[in-house]
Amino acid sequence: MKTYNYSELSSTEIQKLVQRNVDPANEIRTIVEDVIANVQQHGDGALFDYASQFDKVELNKLYLEKAELEEIAQAISADQKAALETAYSNIYKFHQTQLKTEDKVETMPGVTCWRELRPIEKVGLYIPGGSAVLPSTFLMLGIPARIAGCHEIVVCSPPQKNGKVNAFIAYVALMLGIDKIYLAGGSQAVAAMAYGTASIPKVDKIFGPGNQFVTKAKTIIQSTTTTAIDMPAGPSEVLVIADDSAVPAYIAADLLAQAEHGIDSQSVLVCTSAGIAEKAIAEVEKQLPVLPRAEIAKLAIDNSYVVITDNLTEAMNFSNQYAPEHLILATESWEQITGSIINAGSVFLGNLTPESAGDYASGTNHTLPTSSYARAYSGVSVDSFVKKITFQHITREGIGNIGHTVEVLAELEGLHAHRNAVSVRIPPAP
Ligand code: NAD
Repeated sequence: MKTYNYSELSSTEIQKLVQRNVDPANEIRTIVEDVIANVQQHGDGALFDYASQFDKVELNKLYLEKAELEEIAQAISADQKAALETAYSNIYKFHQTQLKTEDKVETMPGVTCWRELRPIEKVGLYIPGGSAVLPSTFLMLGIPARIAGCHEIVVCSPPQKNGKVNAFIAYVALMLGIDKIYLAGGSQAVAAMAYGTASIPKVDKIFGPGNQFVTKAKTIIQSTTTTAIDMPAGPSEVLVIADDSAVPAYIAADLLAQAEHGIDSQSVLVCTSAGIAEKAIAEVEKQLPVLPRAEIAKLAIDNSYVVITDNLTEAMNFSNQYAPEHLILATESWEQITGSIINAGSVFLGNLTPESAGDYASGTNHTLPTSSYARAYSGVSVDSFVKKITFQHITREGIGNIGHTVEVLAELEGLHAHRNAVSVRIPPAP
């Protein structure tokens, strides 16, 4: 891994270092725009063609129904079922607390305002299944959608070589009470859920992580259709802040856990100790070759780097500029620096809190903003699946109290009909 000294980096060099997954020549955009147009025009026909071209499978239908899911799910072991159920329970527990009723507020006597939650009616969940199938993502999206009370949950995942989904995806569908999975992947799945096809219903909002094609498709349909998206959740990344109290073998394991996602993943180590950083790099070299996905992880590690800083304050400055999807504080002093975190998707505190815990089972959501979008976006939660509608009620006393203010403001904007809508309700003085 290439190593930089923070004190020697100019602000332009830092800007360059923190950039990732940009598409300067619009190569990804061009491919994805073509896919979207094709799905819009040819619907299911385009989806069958793309399954053949990208997923290397000839499908005769674009979905699996409950009986087929039940049959596929039989292949999983009791231990695997128990692990999925523990993860389900923890994720459910954590997310359930997010469904809060807000208080009514009387802003003036007789003028009451409040917000109420309503679920988004039709949601589309994208479950990645290219280089690795991710049933954990299905839990992370399906559980908050169910808690929010969404009426229609459309699920798309790339077909595997046998034209099906794997047993874990099928089992999670049954746990969530979802009876149908659509066999579509990549940008074509996003386009199908945004426009609707004969098989796949159009939805109001699309959720889920994916590769650069999926993420680009989501950002395009967000600005060209009435379908919303959760956030740009693209190739995964981790930034580890470490000091003398960190354990090199743990750091290396965390960097590699991220790197094995895909060749465009990134793992960054920001360390106050050159010695610890050196040992962590040596550990990466030791742990990497024995991984089954070593080839992928190696390419991602080649695309990763280390920054040496003088102290944790500098380390946090760099991290805030990077705005990582996952931030690990591999230091016993984590309590002293959490307050200075400005930008991060999800944070893991101390040496015994691996990111993998949050990826699978501790309870927090793993669908998170990448590529520095953590500056402005939050990860998926129950909030992502609801709308917050404002309400107000004004009594006779209230209209008397607020009326003059509204009349004056409407008048100064030259909107006389607005003023009249208040004036006609105020009884003339006796
Ligand atoms: P994927 O399901 O996102 O993509 C697979 C699909 O990509 C294929 O079905 C195919 O249709 C399409 N595709 C492949 N090559 C293509 C090409 N040349 N042109 C057009 N389309 C093409 O699965 P994946 O590729 O394994 O990627 C999953 C990604 O999700 C990884 O990058 C991982 O890091 C990321 N991820 C992110 C988060 C997050 O919260 N940000 C969470 C989990 C995973």
